[in-house]
Amino acid sequence: MDSTSHRRRALKADPAAQLALLDLQELDSRADLLRHQRRTLPELAEIATLTASRAELDGQRRDAQIAVDDLTAEQAKVDADVEQVKTRRKRDQDRMDQGLISNPKDLERMQGELESLQRRITSLEDDELEVMARLEDAQQELDSLTAQVGAADERLAALVSARDTKTQELDASLETTASERGPVVAGLPEDLLALYERLRAAKDGVGVGALRARECGGCRLSLDPSELAAIRAAAPDEVIRHEECQRILVRTPESGI
Ligand SMILES: [Zn+2]
Repeated sequence: MDSTSHRRRALKADPAAQLALLDLQELDSRADLLRHQRRTLPELAEIATLTASRAELDGQRRDAQIAVDDLTAEQAKVDADVEQVKTRRKRDQDRMDQGLISNPKDLERMQGELESLQRRITSLEDDELEVMARLEDAQQELDSLTAQVGAADERLAALVSARDTKTQELDASLETTASERGPVVAGLPEDLLALYERLRAAKDGVGVGALRARECGGCRLSLDPSELAAIRAAAPDEVIRHEECQRILVRTPESGI
């Protein structure tokens, strides 16, 4: 089957309808681009990354909160221990001061106990300082993580707002495109439209191209002289297909044939 018999089976369509098909392609390509932009908004990627790092930060923040709570409890316990030993020391000291202990042996034992209590207090106060320092560090860590989570939330809110604004704008443009598409489709014969839709689905969204400067607008390849001669010889209402890419080729005043 040569190309002449192939074309004999080809569709016929009014040249005006063929030109309108180019308008439809432009609208459909614009809608494809808008949908692509909607899917690939830079905010979407940033929101995903930030949501993941925010979750990680929040986990660290919860751990830091647990550390602060533990150290706060530890500090309260050391404080209570110090108070308890101090109370005991004061009671012993008071008893001695009041002269309630007169036996020299008892006095000596009491002195020893007071010294031991003092050593215990000193040791507990060292612990107290150490816990206090650790608590301070933990609190600082917690504050820093809380601030980081807060900053992430702020940035996320801004990103979500930007995403929503852009999405609404793109949706509005898509609606405009859809409303422009209706009248164009209404002016096209069914068989031509069906062929276009089939090619569009199979060929990366482009079903038709203008023949411009001897080049196919669908695949951007130049047509060879024999194919151009065949197109030149074809009736104006014959629907031409580019042999190379199979797309519909529409002759225009700038076709160069
Ligand atoms: Zn082509």
